[in-house]
Amino acid sequence: MTCNPRYEILFEPMRIGPVTAPNRFYQVPHASGMTNALPRVRAAFREAKAEGGWGVICTGACSIDPSSDDAPLPFATMWDDNDIRAHALMTEAVHRHGALAGVELWHGGASVMNRTSRLPPLSPSGIPWMATHVGFMGNLRPKTMDKADIRDVLKCQAEAARKARTAGFDIVYVYAGMGYLGYEFLLPEYNHRVDEYGGSIENRVRFVREMIEVTKDAVGKDCGVALRVSLEELRGRPGRNQPSEAHELIELLADLPDLFDVKMDSSPTDCSASRFTGEGSHEPVIDFVKSLTTKPVVGVGRFTSPDTMVSQIRRGVLDFIGGARPSIADPFLPNKIREGREAEIRECIGCNICISSWHDGVPVRCTQNPTAGEEWRRGWHPERVERTDAPERILIVGGGPAGLECALTLGRRGHEVMLADSNRTFGGRLTFEKTLPGLSAWNRVVDYRFGRLSEMSNVSLYPESVLGADEIIDLAPDRVVLATGARWTDMLYSSLEIPVGRLDHPDVFTPDDIAGGRLPKGPMLVFDFDNYYMGGVLTEHLAAQGIPVSYVTPAGQASAWTIMTNELPLVHRALARRKVPVTTLHLLKSFDGETATLAHLFTGEETRMACRSVLIVGLRLPRGELFEALTQRADALADAGIRSVDRIGDTLAPGAIAHAVHSGHKLAQEIGAKIRWRPYRRDTPIVDAVADFDMRTAAE
Ligand code: ADP
Ligand code: SF4
Repeated sequence: MTCNPRYEILFEPMRIGPVTAPNRFYQVPHASGMTNALPRVRAAFREAKAEGGWGVICTGACSIDPSSDDAPLPFATMWDDNDIRAHALMTEAVHRHGALAGVELWHGGASVMNRTSRLPPLSPSGIPWMATHVGFMGNLRPKTMDKADIRDVLKCQAEAARKARTAGFDIVYVYAGMGYLGYEFLLPEYNHRVDEYGGSIENRVRFVREMIEVTKDAVGKDCGVALRVSLEELRGRPGRNQPSEAHELIELLADLPDLFDVKMDSSPTDCSASRFTGEGSHEPVIDFVKSLTTKPVVGVGRFTSPDTMVSQIRRGVLDFIGGARPSIADPFLPNKIREGREAEIRECIGCNICISSWHDGVPVRCTQNPTAGEEWRRGWHPERVERTDAPERILIVGGGPAGLECALTLGRRGHEVMLADSNRTFGGRLTFEKTLPGLSAWNRVVDYRFGRLSEMSNVSLYPESVLGADEIIDLAPDRVVLATGARWTDMLYSSLEIPVGRLDHPDVFTPDDIAGGRLPKGPMLVFDFDNYYMGGVLTEHLAAQGIPVSYVTPAGQASAWTIMTNELPLVHRALARRKVPVTTLHLLKSFDGETATLAHLFTGEETRMACRSVLIVGLRLPRGELFEALTQRADALADAGIRSVDRIGDTLAPGAIAHAVHSGHKLAQEIGAKIRWRPYRRDTPIVDAVADFDMRTAAE
């Protein structure tokens, strides 16, 4: 197949200063959680995207100096020769496929806590960022930079840029966004200086201008110099001679950098979840940039539709289509468009599990792409699987995310697959969850897999098929895979923070009851100790149907874990808009059909709340009856020639959809595989140059 002529514009080569990108697909800097400690994992993760057609592949934040130390959050460094070698693995991997490699040099300013280096964080005026996120909180306030500190940071930037060039990077960044040092100089809340670096916008831009100038002096002949800048706040402030200070900033820097990489200011708006924000959400903030510069502009917006991409370019919003999440979910997105295979794009669902990986401090995980981060560790490729030379008949029971992914991967490996589900439609938990407020894009997990499976001649689909042990033994496949999911329980929760007992009353509900169409009486109390999205989104769902709902959780915030996926502020906003009272730090003790008794988690003080029904969003346990029935019939299984019975997804260990997809993929890769890493290949830092760790300088 060939490229739709409408999309050919996406494949034009584009200059960035002295270097040329092969096309307009630009993987902007994004956190991978890999750091220089996992250099081979990182190189292979990024190589997959270059192979898949992305024209530019960038690193995530790469510290220019130990005064920018974000530990324990993952970040890369460009401090010494070992770092150069670690990054060179990635630039070589990216260059093998004709793409450019970019490095996001970064100084975190007051937003880092320097927990390892124990240097005082640097800032324009000693103003800290008081984060609400525990991972970002610290108890060391930043130092106000003097002129010598400014000179030192400029020197570090130039030195790191030279190291980056040695490592093989083609594009070198200056970073002035997201609360980091350059941004702090731009924003008057952080910058109270009365010298030439503070006050007017011209003065506030000075530090960023100097950072660009020293970078250009250091490497500008060989590398493109990019400015990454957040514009959301400044766009909201009137300018003196332009509509906003964001306009004035771009006008002042106009043609200095070789590329503008423009974005929002905070993670929840910059990398917003699809539950609350649609594709292309940055446009109203960044749409003016191209009118004030002749230099190319890249921006993001969770772009997965080639028509939207082309529209951004034709309308003069962007020159490069930036992608972080779309490149994780489908490293081969550009090639699929170029080859006219748009229907095969594995579209990002906007769940932000990838972001949560960074907050967790681990390599990136993706709901849609189970191979992300596993390219080197487990030898998985986002598009290719090892074909089997001994095809088997494999029955998968359960067509939710785990069963669908397992069927797809086994089918691609050449096995004869039968996928059965008791429901009329495939999709498992998503059949209901996609109907909840904001979650429709999540069904891309099903759409992508079901679409591919329907085209495969070696896969048979059996909807509306309830299978028990007898039916399975009669079918006599070579192997059985159970993907039968999990059930929500009506268990309560103790002051030791452990699920205990059950709440037995006819008006107690679980999410499965709501999914099954059972309608609760209002007012209803939602008791959430699952703490991910389900409690919050069901509360929204019920409130939208006119049922008065109160939300209660033992956690400190509603849907507390969604801080990891950038959703938490928006969950609270959504509940407030629905006028849902939120009670935190409380346990549900009892319910008699008219009143619920709550107890404070720490003091035990009891309060009563009038309600006529209770929804418990708490513990999920595997739907395990079928597995138990089969394991009790070992002889019958052997007689039928069934060689194995495995479990995947929620029936193995209930969790987020990302875990179910990964579990289904893993089993499909491992059945009959020639090589299996147990549990996976371990990467090591590059420490060839131990002597380089000697960072002594002459004492003055
Ligand atoms: P996961 O997230 O692990 O994929 P889901 O709960 O989303 O789990 O999907 C499990 C699917 O398995 C559901 O669609 C359910 O209807 C189906 N299922 C469960 N038990 C059986 C069974 N005995 N026969 C056929 N389908 C089943
Ligand atoms: Fe997209 Fe979710 Fe994958 Fe992140 S984890 S890239 S948001 S599908």
